[in-house]
Amino acid sequence: MDSEVSAWQRALAEAFTSVDSLCRYLDIKADSLPLNIDCQDFPLRVPKGYADCMQPGNPRDPLLRQVLPVLDELKVYPGYSADPVGDLQAVATPGVIHKYQGRVLMIVTGACAIHCRYCFRRNFPYGELQLGSQKIQQAVAYIAGHSDISEVILSGGDPLLLSDDRLNKLLGRLARIPHVKRLRIHSRVPVVLPSRITATLLENLDSTGKQIVLVIHANHANELSAEVGRACERMRQSRITLLNQSVLLKGVNDDAASLCTLSERLFAIGVLPYYLHLLDHASGTGHFAVAERQALGIYRHMRENLPGYLLPRLVREQAGAAYKLPLFEPDAGL
Ligand SMILES: *Cc1c(COP(=O)(O)O)cnc(C)c1O
Ligand code: SF4
Repeated sequence: MDSEVSAWQRALAEAFTSVDSLCRYLDIKADSLPLNIDCQDFPLRVPKGYADCMQPGNPRDPLLRQVLPVLDELKVYPGYSADPVGDLQAVATPGVIHKYQGRVLMIVTGACAIHCRYCFRRNFPYGELQLGSQKIQQAVAYIAGHSDISEVILSGGDPLLLSDDRLNKLLGRLARIPHVKRLRIHSRVPVVLPSRITATLLENLDSTGKQIVLVIHANHANELSAEVGRACERMRQSRITLLNQSVLLKGVNDDAASLCTLSERLFAIGVLPYYLHLLDHASGTGHFAVAERQALGIYRHMRENLPGYLLPRLVREQAGAAYKLPLFEPDAGL
């Protein structure tokens, strides 16, 4: 068990934290790239296993684009803000976002194993909201006091970066609330740090006695290495329902062929596509946006090429809406 713990913590500690070292590793000339070197509030962070999924020598690699801080981040786009989806208005108690009927989202940590440049929470005031040990009691009390909450979503940051000890304490508290039927974890860790999916973690999840749903966040088939596949296999053996959520990102996956390959590869490792999100308009991310019209065109091609169960729901999130809004195809004939 201890060696399992040290394996993922070591992988995390050994992640790339400088553009220079990552570029050297990939055999790319850093000085040929339009880099934003002044990004200390959200610095580069890339686990080595994720870098190993990139194509050496290719500055336009779709995985590299997701993590490289570029000058475009400094461009100001109209309508982009620090809180694009109205999360701050939906804070029920610190660390708990109660936006939708029947389910709440808990921000359990601000830390992530990778820093995704398109992240909608990149400007989020984690310090104030994330659940420190005192606030956890209050958060659990809120959930316990609302009998209509049947699903608790652990989010962040990345909830799987919590230590086994801290995560297990939280799981134990949630496990004791009878009206909570499902625990859902949204995490990019199975994709970017698969060694975190340890036997201990799986035992801890299983011992809650709740149904566990794990939504992995993969945007491109190249992210799904053999090791990621093995981590998903371990989770499936532990009866965890595996879903995937992606963001439609310009220069990363904004073509039907890439997304169809992603769906096929997900299914091959036992994961069903759930959502394909339009980009949330967070400051610093405008260069990743794909226009709605183009998104619908891509989606139509996906529909033509995939069985229905491999087609994710194309949605966008709107502050104040009661659910993630599906995009409607104009010629759907309805
Ligand atoms: C996305 C989200 C959920 C989950 O929505 P589903 O449609 O059930 O996946 C819940 N709470 C918040 C705050 C969310 O942003
Ligand atoms: S919250 Fe998710 S998208 Fe944002 S940086 Fe962390 S892992 Fe990436």
